[in-house]
Amino acid sequence: MRQVYLNGQYLPETEAKISIFDRGFVFADAVYEVTAVLDGKLIDFAGHLARLRRSLGELDMPFSMDDADLLAIHRRLVELNQIDEGLVYIQVSRGVADRDFIFPDRATPNTVVLYTQKKHFSTRSAAELAQRVIILEDQRWQRCDIKTVQLLYSSMAKNQAKKAGADDAWLVRDGLVTEGSSSNAYIVTAEGAIVTRDVSNLILNGITRRAVLECARELGLTLEERGFDVAEAKAAKEAFITSATTLVSPVVQIDGVAIGDGKPGPVAARLREIYLAHSRAEAI
Ligand code: PMP
Repeated sequence: MRQVYLNGQYLPETEAKISIFDRGFVFADAVYEVTAVLDGKLIDFAGHLARLRRSLGELDMPFSMDDADLLAIHRRLVELNQIDEGLVYIQVSRGVADRDFIFPDRATPNTVVLYTQKKHFSTRSAAELAQRVIILEDQRWQRCDIKTVQLLYSSMAKNQAKKAGADDAWLVRDGLVTEGSSSNAYIVTAEGAIVTRDVSNLILNGITRRAVLECARELGLTLEERGFDVAEAKAAKEAFITSATTLVSPVVQIDGVAIGDGKPGPVAARLREIYLAHSRAEAI
């Protein structure tokens, strides 16, 4: 059975229990990160930890565990669950307190949980990875830069995509694409420039986004961090997404319209390959 981490203990998943008054459950007062594992090692771990601390800071949520301990726990779970390729999730809530909108006393201990998922990334073909997306209105709150466990709209969007026979949804606010339901969104223009939404409170500043844009810079590709609308996306040569759970994955259809020739594009394929190679070299 899968082993998980809960507040200092490693336990079989069925034995890990938390209070009904945990603020993560009652108010979604919790943040999280997910780190990819390749060859049993963590990808972009420093970036995920830095973003976890930023999310905690934006919510004024106290948290006292240090980076070395968090790394050790991630590694231990990878080992206990024999994760060669997969994901490690960490969730930190403000802890347990009687129901009250006001944050509890700063001394309230956090609830900290970690768990793993097995997932194969590296051997998937471009055709297997290809995503068909639908366009939905971005109805999330305006602090999408904080990685909270309040994922209900993303979950609704994915369900709507599934109902429509698609794989996922891209979200649009004020006429411009913000991001995917759980990924950053990109297009490649006729001139070969990579366009993705600029970082603000309206998107999650992806750790994979940063690394992949760095790979694109190294390849000498032109980058444009700006909004784009659905018409521009449908007319693009190529489209793709990035996230720790999908790495770089091609988007071949938007609202039923084929992108480019309707097949996974070369820019996304090249970036995926380079990102995988970099990640493998720098994994810890
Ligand atoms: N945007 C959203 C809304 C996400 O949920 C995610 C994945 N957690 C991303 C972007 C991609 O972020 P990362 O590359 O750090 O996984």
